[in-house]
Amino acid sequence: SLRSKVTVVGSGNWGSVAAKLVASNTLRSTSFHDEVRMWVFEETLPSGEKLTDVINGTNENVKYLPGIKLGKNVVADPDLENAVKDANMLVIVTPHQFVEGICKRLAGKIKTEAEAISLVKGMEVKVDGPRMMSTLISQQLGINCSVLMGANIANEIGQEKFSEATVGYRQNKGAAESWVQLFNTPYFNVTSVQDVEGVELCGTLKNVVAVAAGFVDGLEMGNNAKAAIMRIGLEEMKAFSKLLFPTVKDSTFFESCGVADLITTCLGGRNRGVAEAFAKSGGKRSFDELEQELLQGQKLQGVSTASDVYEVLSHRGWLELFPLFSLVHEICIGHLPPSAIVHQYSEH
Ligand code: NAD
Ligand code: 13P
Repeated sequence: SLRSKVTVVGSGNWGSVAAKLVASNTLRSTSFHDEVRMWVFEETLPSGEKLTDVINGTNENVKYLPGIKLGKNVVADPDLENAVKDANMLVIVTPHQFVEGICKRLAGKIKTEAEAISLVKGMEVKVDGPRMMSTLISQQLGINCSVLMGANIANEIGQEKFSEATVGYRQNKGAAESWVQLFNTPYFNVTSVQDVEGVELCGTLKNVVAVAAGFVDGLEMGNNAKAAIMRIGLEEMKAFSKLLFPTVKDSTFFESCGVADLITTCLGGRNRGVAEAFAKSGGKRSFDELEQELLQGQKLQGVSTASDVYEVLSHRGWLELFPLFSLVHEICIGHLPPSAIVHQYSEH
């Protein structure tokens, strides 16, 4: 049939919401098959049941998105290859540290005409430089990959509260239009821009700024200090993106993926929350320990992204140009106290 089959690779907090959004549209539109496959990284719950069985039995991801029905046409599948084998449209949405391993398993197992979209916020740093997740996916799977980023705290969208999002595409405008059609709902307004790197770097880098915002909250430095951190952070996001990819557009920073995602993540995100607890502990408790305690299996992206960004900055001799990004990493690894986050900006 000519209807596209959609598979969501990932079923965490945002992955589950993405499956719900998509599944509401596949039912309404004749462009898509009704069924949405969702790959689940299988685990056994404290009850002894498999997470996949519970999702298929209750229509809820009881661990990562409790209380929200996903839609009866979402089918959880613990078998990665089986989940993707018929897909024409692949939605990749796992924490960034798992993407490379998943792509290695998927190489050669995907339909050659399939299109992918990455909802993953993060990058990978190798000796030859940084690689964005969409590039990794595209190279490993041999298919085109767009991105979707935005001011999208998953739990709010799960409750169908209004938000916006941005699709970034490289060349294939037709693919971008299909992704907008697949994701857009009355409460999830999606627009597209031809700037895949700009959109993806916004989503990735704002997590570093959110960690800084969490330090400010933990130390009760006030709203003005937090606004200053957000402003400086946005400036560094733009400068870093343009140094890496000169084609990145200024206008992208005014889309949902830019300033709006920065604001929501600094107000209510997980990176912010864990960094707040870190600062409250005076830097004595580790991020790993706090992540496990506060997020219960969900994953932080900001701390490892700060480390990745730091590696790029030091390799290229750019550390002085990016004091906020550098300080976040140095605080996370314990070289500086959380209070250092408001120092050293006067010359910038
Ligand atoms: P999450 O933070 O809920 O992470 C938990 C998921 O990771 C679970 O599905 C778990 O099974 C999986 N996992 C754990 N170990 C694994 C392994 N070894 N291999 C594969 N998977 C494993 O995930 P999320 O919230 O869906 O985030 C995915 C991406 O979406 C991230 O890049 C995040 O930054 C981004 N994002 C999240 C939100 C949000 O509000 N949660 C919003 C927008 C974007
Ligand atoms: P956190 O991972 O900090 O919760 O941010 C979620 C997000 O990306 C909102 O768009």
